[in-house]
Amino acid sequence: MERRSFLKKASVGFAAGAIAAPAIAQTAAALPTIKWRLASSFPKSLDTIFGGAEVVAKRVAAATGGKFQIQVFAGGEIVPPFQVLDAVKDGTVEIGHSASYYYVGKDPTFAIDCAIPFGMNSRQQNAWMMHGGGIELMREFFKDYNIYNIPCGNTGTQMGGWFRKEIKTVADLKGLKMRIAGLAGNVLAKLGVIAQQIPGADIYPALEKGTIDAAEWVGPYDDEKLGFNKVAKYYYYPAWWEGGPQITMYVNQKQWDSLPKEYQAILESACAEATADMLAKYDNKNPPALKRLMAGGTQLRPFTNDIMAACYKAANEFYEETAAKNAKFKKIYEPWKKFRDEQVQWFSIAEGGFDRFMQATARTAQTAPAKKK
Ligand code: CA
Repeated sequence: MERRSFLKKASVGFAAGAIAAPAIAQTAAALPTIKWRLASSFPKSLDTIFGGAEVVAKRVAAATGGKFQIQVFAGGEIVPPFQVLDAVKDGTVEIGHSASYYYVGKDPTFAIDCAIPFGMNSRQQNAWMMHGGGIELMREFFKDYNIYNIPCGNTGTQMGGWFRKEIKTVADLKGLKMRIAGLAGNVLAKLGVIAQQIPGADIYPALEKGTIDAAEWVGPYDDEKLGFNKVAKYYYYPAWWEGGPQITMYVNQKQWDSLPKEYQAILESACAEATADMLAKYDNKNPPALKRLMAGGTQLRPFTNDIMAACYKAANEFYEETAAKNAKFKKIYEPWKKFRDEQVQWFSIAEGGFDRFMQATARTAQTAPAKKK
C-alpha cells in the first residue's frame, strides 16, 4: 500500500503515532551545521590541559554526527594565551578554554573561578561549583564579560614549583623572582617575592636564562615535559595556591544563546566529561613522572610550616583588603569561604582519616629495611 493512502485510511490515533517517528527524524535533520573556533590559553605540548579542549571537541562532534564542529587552536595560534577571555567577550572567537586566574589584573574575583591561595581541592571545588552555589555566583559575575562559563577541567593539587636555590626560611623569599599565576603573586608580594605571570610555553627560557629564580607550572607530568628539571634542582610542594585549580570553558553569550538546546546540553556534558578525564589523566600520569624526575636528580622539598603559615596569614590579609574594596569579590568570597571551611572540617574526618593512615603505611613500606632472605 502506498504510504499516503495508508495514512488517509488509518484512524486518527494510529495516524498520529505513525507520523511521530518521521517528525523526530525531521527535527534532528533540521539541527544546523555549526563551526566554531576555540582559542586555548595552553600550549599543544600539554596533552592534559590543552587536551581537555580536544576531549570536548571530539565528544561534541561525535554526539552531533559531525554537525557541531569545534576547531581547537593552541595558545598564541590565533589569540595570545592571556587574551582568550577578551577574544570570547568581543566575539573574535566563539569559545575559549582558559584558567580564570589569568585575568586577576581585570578583577581578582576571576581567581575564585579557578583557584585562590589556601582554597579548595578538586573534590571540594567541584562540590562548590556543581551543588554549593558556585556556578550561580560565577555565572552572574561572568555576565558582565558577555561570557557563559562552564567548568571544564581540573589538575588536582599542583606542585610548588622549581627553585634554583633552596628556600629554608620566610626571609629567603625576599627578592625572589618567580613565575606564578593568579592571586598567589599578590600574596607572595607581601613577603617580598617579585611575581611574574608568564605563559606556559615561555617559562623554560626565562628560568634557563635566569630572568626568574623560580617557576611553578603544574605537576610532575607537565613539568617534566617542559623540562624545568634541567634548569632548576629543587622541586617544592605543595602549591598552596592551587589546591584544585579549575579550567573553564568560556562561551560568548550571544553564541551560547543562539545554539540549539540539544547542542547546549551536549557541550555542557562534554565539559563535565573533560573535567573528570583531566583529573584522571593527572592522577595516572603524575606518579611515574615524579619517579623519573627523582631518578634524574631532582630534589624534593616541602615548604616549611613557617613558610606555609606566613603565606596563609598574608593570604587572609589580602582577602580582607580585597573584600573591603571590591563588592563583587566580597559577594562570592564570603559564601565561598564558609563552604571551604565546612569542607575542610568534613574532609579531615572520613577522607582525611583514611588518607593519613594509608599514607603512613606507604611511607613505612618505602623506608622499611629489606628483609634478609
Ligand atoms: Ca600552577
